[in-house]
Formats: sequence, C-alpha cells, structure tokens
Amino acid sequence: MKLYTINTGYFKLDGGAMFGVVPKTIWNKLNPADENNMCSWALRCLLIEDGDRLILVDNGMGDKQDAKFFGHYYLHGDDSLDGSLAKNGFSREDITDVFLTHLHFDHCGGSIIRDKDKLVPAFPNAVFWSNQRHWKWATEPNDREKASFLKENILPIADSGRLKFIETNSGDLPASISIRQVFGHTDAMMLPQVGYKGRTLVFMADLLPSVAHIPLPYVMGYDMFPLTTLQEKKAFLTEALQNDFVLFFEHDPLYECCTLQQTEKGIRVRDTFRLDEL
Ligand SMILES: [Zn+2]
Repeated sequence: MKLYTINTGYFKLDGGAMFGVVPKTIWNKLNPADENNMCSWALRCLLIEDGDRLILVDNGMGDKQDAKFFGHYYLHGDDSLDGSLAKNGFSREDITDVFLTHLHFDHCGGSIIRDKDKLVPAFPNAVFWSNQRHWKWATEPNDREKASFLKENILPIADSGRLKFIETNSGDLPASISIRQVFGHTDAMMLPQVGYKGRTLVFMADLLPSVAHIPLPYVMGYDMFPLTTLQEKKAFLTEALQNDFVLFFEHDPLYECCTLQQTEKGIRVRDTFRLDEL
C-alpha cells in the first residue's frame, strides 16, 4: 500500500470562526490573519493506493463556482487536484473510489465539474462514498449549515448513479482502512484510519483541522455541536497518544502530519513532518 498527499490549493476562512472562543490575540500568533481577518488554510487530500484500488479521500473545493463565491473564499496557491495527481503519476480517470469525509464544499467540491451545461462527476470511473445518515443531513440542511452544503456539489453525485453509502467497517474498503465516525462538527463525519508502515494514520478532516486546534478549547465556531466535538477530541487525543497515531491534517497551512505527547498543559504536538518523511 502507498499513501500520497494531494494538495489542491489553499483557501481563506475567517480566523475568529475557525478558532471559536479563543481570542484573536492568541490565535493570530498561530495563523496570522490578513487585513480582513481571514487566515489561509490548506485543502489537502489523501490518496490511498491499495492493490487495484485508488482511493481519494476528499477533493478540495473544485473550481466550478462563480467569481462571487471565490471572492469569499480566495482559492489560491500553485497546487491543483490534477497537478498533484499528475506529480504522482495519476490522473482523475485512475481514481476508483472517492471517499467523502463529509459534504461541506471545501471537502467535496472537486467531485463534480461543469461539462458545458451539465454537472458531471470529475472522476469518470469512480464510485463516491458517503453514509446514509450524513447524506440525509446534508440534503435536508439546517439553516445554520446550509451555506456549506452546496446542491451543485452533492446532487449530481446521486444523479450519476455512482453514490454508495458505507457503513463503518463493512468490508466496502480494503482491510487496511477503517472508519471512525464523529458527530460534533457535522452529523456523522467519517475519518479514515489507515494502517501504514507499521503505524496508524488518521485523516483528521474537520475534527482537528490543524495542529493549532489540538488544545481542547480550540473548537471551530463552525461546529454544529461544539460540546460533542470537545468530548470527541478528548477521547481521540487520549487514544492517539496511547497508540502513537500519526495525525494527517487536511487544513493545516504548514504541517501535513504530527505525533502527540503529554505535557503539563495536556496533550500537545510532538513532531511535525511530511507524509513522505514517515
Ligand atoms: Zn466541515
């Protein structure tokens, strides 16, 4: 099995929204904001090559939205989905499975492209994995979260006939991959956990968007159920420390991976490194 980092660029989100109750005097040292209070975040995906399966975990925000949308989110940087796949010798046609942790636009927007007037899958040979509970949550969204669930990213997946619902650890994915479900950020987000080089690597999605979010009170304002996130973080960090998990960050602007250590203040980052250094 082989893992690859697939960078699809950076985008910007309001720093206050990303750090919840943490004051700017503190978070601004961790991820300095621009003049509009916006911070840069990565759109970093994971590609898993296992036997004849090529599984892409999330796919960034895509590029089919209008100028107004990108005016809010400032997609920037040199990386792109196609460029990063090509760098590793792959193309979108090679992807057999697209695994969507959840259906917020910055995780699934690359699933669908505009082909003339039609919205079609960007991965012509892939099936798309979500889960029934999250799909229902995303397609019947609440008013607080509906700006993150864009119809044009989601409905064409179902229309294509290639949407599949996964149940945790059902044998739908190779045995080296298991799934953790969490419920604080959004309902039934899935975190793939991969056995790799004798270690366990966990794709953090939006449970821990960056290294800066490791301390317990650093919970995003975007989360639907912040106290649930708090409990889920606590339980995860304890397990991850005990088992020396490798954490892979989708949104950290600098760090791809880290390990953890116990300190007087609680569980904190130990080492940071790139996936290809593991
Ligand atoms: Zn999210």
